Amino acid sequence: HEFRTPIMLTVGPLRDITAGIHGKITQEMRAEIELSLRNASRLLELVDQLLMLARFDAGELEFRPRCLDLRAHLESLTDTHRTLAHRRSLRLLVELPDAEVFGEFDESKLDQIFGNLLGNALKFTPAGGTVRLRLSEPTPEGWIRVEVEDDGHGIPAQDMPRIFDRFYRGEQQNGSVPGTGLGLAVAKECVELHSGTIMVENLDGGGARFTVTLKGGRQPCHLQAVLSGGRES
Ligand code: ADP
Repeated sequence: HEFRTPIMLTVGPLRDITAGIHGKITQEMRAEIELSLRNASRLLELVDQLLMLARFDAGELEFRPRCLDLRAHLESLTDTHRTLAHRRSLRLLVELPDAEVFGEFDESKLDQIFGNLLGNALKFTPAGGTVRLRLSEPTPEGWIRVEVEDDGHGIPAQDMPRIFDRFYRGEQQNGSVPGTGLGLAVAKECVELHSGTIMVENLDGGGARFTVTLKGGRQPCHLQAVLSGGRES
């Protein structure tokens, strides 16, 4: 709260001003305020990521899984990234199976995982490129796979071993692309809370692919445990 409250108290009044509650504002004022608002939300995001890692280290991070349809969750999450993709002249392709894919997921952690992967893919892919999110059919063994790939420059070999480390930023980033090096570290912790895995590879034609594997299946969660003879427990 010590960190979040001052930021919220910065954002609130600025939002009121742009909403016009104190009267009309000029285009120039609106542009300036919107810039401040974007930066304040970025700061809030960073504070949230730092707090999440600190709580994780202290063993105090809440993990509240409940049975969710990952397909519906990814559909709504990717919807919120469409505007950003459009603004950057990128194509965002979302490939989802025809039916629901259930698993025991903590919703806010899913947002961290896929929000960071999509955010990076959109950030590191030059205009005109394509970002693809693909949720595969669950395997009979009860695993589900989500791939987030792009056709950008991919990840240089020297960065590969360290990209999931906290505060690590690719050597070429040097301020050219904004970031803190926390996104992938947070995503990895959140995947591991779900007893899943995350890996990365470069694609032959250029670009990077992140693959997240989580437990889940076609059946609602309580039936998955029964059908697998208690495998989930
Ligand atoms: P940040 O994005 O804040 O730099 P991250 O932890 O999200 O931090 O990513 C760490 C580094 O991994 C990035 O600085 C970048 O070098 C590399 N990276 C992550 N995603 C991609 C991607 N889709 N394409 C190329 N490089 C990437």
